[in-house]
Amino acid sequence: MSIEFQVEAHAGAARAGRLLTPHGEIETPVFMPVGTVATVKGMPQDVLEELGVQILLGNTYHLYLRPGVETVRKMEGLHGFMAWPRAILTDSGGFQVFSLNELRKVTEEGVTFRSHLDGSSHFFSPESAMQAQIGLGADIIMAFDECTEYPADRARTQASMELTLRWAERSKKYFEEHKHEVPWGSFQRSAFSAQQTKIPRFARNDKLGKARNDEEEGGGNDESNEGHTQSLFGIIQGGMDLELRKESAERTIEIGFPGYAIGGLSVGEPRERTREVIEATLEHLPADKPRYVMGVGTPEEIAEYASLGVDMMDCVLPTRAARHGLLFTSEGKVSIKQSRYTQDAGPLDPNCGCRVCQRYSRAYLRHLYASNEVLAQVLNTLHNLSFYLDTMRRVRHSIRLGEESRFL
Ligand SMILES: [Zn+2]
Repeated sequence: MSIEFQVEAHAGAARAGRLLTPHGEIETPVFMPVGTVATVKGMPQDVLEELGVQILLGNTYHLYLRPGVETVRKMEGLHGFMAWPRAILTDSGGFQVFSLNELRKVTEEGVTFRSHLDGSSHFFSPESAMQAQIGLGADIIMAFDECTEYPADRARTQASMELTLRWAERSKKYFEEHKHEVPWGSFQRSAFSAQQTKIPRFARNDKLGKARNDEEEGGGNDESNEGHTQSLFGIIQGGMDLELRKESAERTIEIGFPGYAIGGLSVGEPRERTREVIEATLEHLPADKPRYVMGVGTPEEIAEYASLGVDMMDCVLPTRAARHGLLFTSEGKVSIKQSRYTQDAGPLDPNCGCRVCQRYSRAYLRHLYASNEVLAQVLNTLHNLSFYLDTMRRVRHSIRLGEESRFL
């Protein structure tokens, strides 16, 4: 088994459901925190579990360069290496290589690029990107694509889309031939079985009641992963051209994947355009497969995209902004570095139940940030992630109540 997706409730175009993976269940729509180099910066894995993170994202480009795929593979993949028993998704490296700009060269065969770490030369092809992602061992991996730059004219956008389609076929072919090489071993059955008992395993999720019983009994989760495999998602490109998006969707679906991502957004286009492309592309994606929009957005945007029918999203914004002292709250954005908070005894967000808002004052958070203390990054990240995850929790709740507009 690889994944299974069940839509359980609708509210307008929005849907709430469950995505079952070999490493646990994910309630959708879901926000996936980004753990670029096998860490969500500043957050220990047990804190992520406490926050209710069910899936996180790793970046193939970064992990390939350091510590290297072979190291991660020998540690039973990312799950074993970073001691994370829940689900993981890796990107293909395509977007990261794209953002290197001057340091890359694209041919039919693949992309030659230089490492941002030491300038050394490397090559990614659909095949080698699949090989890397199989070695990293995430539950969901992504086809190797070319992210079309913005702006781009129609001819350029079409050529880029066609290249992504050819690469999608090559990605799938390599994946199908090599997916049995995923390095999942004894990880779930050994040192982490205590945590794992709280997570309904894929094989036990056919009946929720049974999963619940197993949880109450507190264990017995000794099944092996034999027979479980990764899932490869396809990526829709086509720039900002809605006709090309439609064609890309139809032809990617023809190749056939268990889930589809909308890529090539958040590349500098206006936000209204992002929304328009998402809405138009979603129309052409199958309703019974998970739909993933890559690299978005603000708390308002992820709620909005969920209302359009998106099931999965990821973004570095909550974690990156936190490290720059920018905090998302129920009362709007707070730049904690501002001197107006120097003697502010109130909580960061009076409506937030996270342990930062329960315990510390704005004055203290401001002091930690101004003093460049490590704890500032930890607490700021914890709150921002908490706020994003709570936003999606509210969205899921609203969808299940059938209240389409309440979360916007
Ligand atoms: Zn908080």
